[in-house]
Amino acid sequence: MEQIGHWINGAHVAGTSGRTADVMNPATGEVQAQVALASQDEMDAAIAAAAEAQVAWGATNPQRRARVMMKLVDLLNRDMDKLAEAISREHGKTFPDAKGDVQRGLEVIEFCIGAPHLLKGEFTDSAGPGIDMYSMRQPLGVVAGITPFNFPAMIPLWKLGPALAAGNAMIMKPSERDPSCPMMIAGLLKEAGLPDGVFQVINGDKAAVDAILDSETIQAVGFVGSTPIAQYIYSRAAETGKRAQCFGGAKNHMIIMPDADLDQAADALVGAGYGAAGERCMAISVAVPVGEETADRLIEKLVPRIEALKVGPYTAGDDVDFGPVVTAAAKENILRLVNSGVEQGAELVVDGRDFSLQGYEDGFFVGAHLFDKVTPDMDIYKTEIFGPVLSTVRAASYEEAIGLAMSHEYGNGTAIFTRDGDAARDFANRINIGMVGINVPIPVPLAYHTFGGWKKSGFGDLNQHGPDAFRFYTRTKTITSRWPSGIKEGAAFNFKAMD
Ligand code: NAD
Repeated sequence: MEQIGHWINGAHVAGTSGRTADVMNPATGEVQAQVALASQDEMDAAIAAAAEAQVAWGATNPQRRARVMMKLVDLLNRDMDKLAEAISREHGKTFPDAKGDVQRGLEVIEFCIGAPHLLKGEFTDSAGPGIDMYSMRQPLGVVAGITPFNFPAMIPLWKLGPALAAGNAMIMKPSERDPSCPMMIAGLLKEAGLPDGVFQVINGDKAAVDAILDSETIQAVGFVGSTPIAQYIYSRAAETGKRAQCFGGAKNHMIIMPDADLDQAADALVGAGYGAAGERCMAISVAVPVGEETADRLIEKLVPRIEALKVGPYTAGDDVDFGPVVTAAAKENILRLVNSGVEQGAELVVDGRDFSLQGYEDGFFVGAHLFDKVTPDMDIYKTEIFGPVLSTVRAASYEEAIGLAMSHEYGNGTAIFTRDGDAARDFANRINIGMVGINVPIPVPLAYHTFGGWKKSGFGDLNQHGPDAFRFYTRTKTITSRWPSGIKEGAAFNFKAMD
């Protein structure tokens, strides 16, 4: 059985806590590796080593740090297939989708090559007589990333790129469900020239997370995962004065206006609802057609498309549309919620409950489901299902549709499909959701913009990647400097304006 330990001081080391978790192959239901779960002592030792290594790394000039990122881009491209294979094996997503996972992370590393520019401060010449004022952005020291199972390459890369390029050391605590990819990335960082100790991967569960939260050395924590844990981390991080950005769950609505191209909308819904088995925080899980006629026509177009979806293991080839969900518990939870939808009166138009795949009966496969006539009081509407289940809520008007999305507790992403520019503009302006698509179902911003949800989808005030990430991983120091022509002017005791 493969044993996955930790990455400390530039090497893979075995765990010493005596605790491990099983890493499953979701397609077969078999245990394929065991991952160490760190103790507080292991975490503390890794943090201390990171703090020591950070001093020289933080003092390294930004261009040299950027060159490590430049090299990392090459190495990620070189090992793209290997990384994607590790993701598919542990997560279950299809191979092309796993490559997308690496690619969207890699693009943030490309952005981080611009660190010298992004880290430039501000300067005011002659703010007063003989006085210059300037600000510099300095690294925080040791920072931590705590990441979810659903993007084991992309989200760790979103965090480590800006954190390291800005001169910090980072402790990465990836999901214990698919830890291999972050460990491989640690090896690539070493190969790219990152000094040992600057990036440590400490595997673990709540104990490891709590050790991060209790640490007085760690200055910031970047978290992505479910909302209850995001809220927990946000509040606990504050107790030790850490900076925290904590991104949580989602329930993304797509509004389909009567004038939309319904074939386009149906294709978009199928990709965004069922891709990666619905295990994306930007998946569309609620379709809101406006008007009964739009709803009827949309359902008519969706059903054959959904029934034609091919579910299978990543090894079955590139025409598989989606794979298994991540664990047996996730499968059970999804089916429980589907049953609750039926009991609470929603119409299950496509029923995937009996789905089984020959030869993979023990895998965690869930068939595609489509609900119609879902209402806001139902559990399937209120809860993030995180599975291949799309709910349709029929709205009588645009106002009712936008009102639904605005009243939901989550605010990660949303989309509107329409041909009407006025409706699209109004939607983009009024909606209280962080990322908005206009005829784009999954509006994940590119690396040079920033990614973050509102309401219960995001806690903290700066987003991931883009310029925000460099603000999050640095702090500003502002210097007022005076070079007097002589000391004859004497002391000044009043709080002076810069006249
Ligand atoms: P999760 O909350 O179970 O786990 C996330 C991380 O927290 C993992 O590293 C895990 O080890 C740790 N953790 C789990 N339980 C903990 C506890 N009790 N105390 C401390 N730490 C704990 O999330 P997941 O199942 O891995 O990921 C899926 C969730 O992540 C979904 O809700 C999804 O919407 C969300 N997500 C959000 C975004 C976003 O940007 N908003 C992106 C991807 C995923």
